[in-house]
Amino acid sequence: MHKKSGKDHSTARVAAAFVIALVFAVSAVAVPVAVSAERLPVVVVDAGHGGADGGVTGVNSGAKESDLNLAMSRLIGECLESLGFKAVYTRKGRGGLYREEDDNKKSADMAMRGVIIRRASPVAVISVHMNTFHDRSRRGAQVFFDGGSESGRALAQSLQDALNSEFNLPDAGRGFAPLSADKYILKQTSAPSVIVECGFLSNPADEAHLLDADYTARFARAVAAAVSGYFGGA
Ligand SMILES: [Zn+2]
Repeated sequence: MHKKSGKDHSTARVAAAFVIALVFAVSAVAVPVAVSAERLPVVVVDAGHGGADGGVTGVNSGAKESDLNLAMSRLIGECLESLGFKAVYTRKGRGGLYREEDDNKKSADMAMRGVIIRRASPVAVISVHMNTFHDRSRRGAQVFFDGGSESGRALAQSLQDALNSEFNLPDAGRGFAPLSADKYILKQTSAPSVIVECGFLSNPADEAHLLDADYTARFARAVAAAVSGYFGGA
């Protein structure tokens, strides 16, 4: 019994050595893959508003901008990842990026978005919003950039061109030029940063589109493809 168990131990040692060797062999193969995965260019996808700040609301549905931004951001992130980017989200849930005890929740929320952007060292920042206007006939997708950033202007132009041709010209009847805006979210990194206002929740036709799964999937694909194109991708 004792002798047999000794033999088993010896077998076990050989097996253990084999397993250890195998683990090393596998890690030797796995490490370069892990390193290259970490080197994927990061795009921060920022779903505007959240928590106590619902943003604007749909004229017919009452849908909250914060929820639509979150859904659109996830779609854009997934499309970007399918094109070889890593998506880093500022918020993944419906809550805002502040603590209940924060006196000024809006500024705490914005400051945290800045922290996440700077930590991510992104190649680009896409902040996702939905628009509103007192004149309900106003519609279409509008891209904003920081006036001090040439790369921001260029990325905004690429995005606006793509959105004009696929959505604004057929739907809104006209294309838009990208506009400069003085916004905190556009100033957190030297990487090109844009705000995409996907459409007007004050316009019933835009609102219907922005609540439609096929339209939002198509819109997200167009945004991701334009970002990829800006960086020389397909
Ligand atoms: Zn907004």
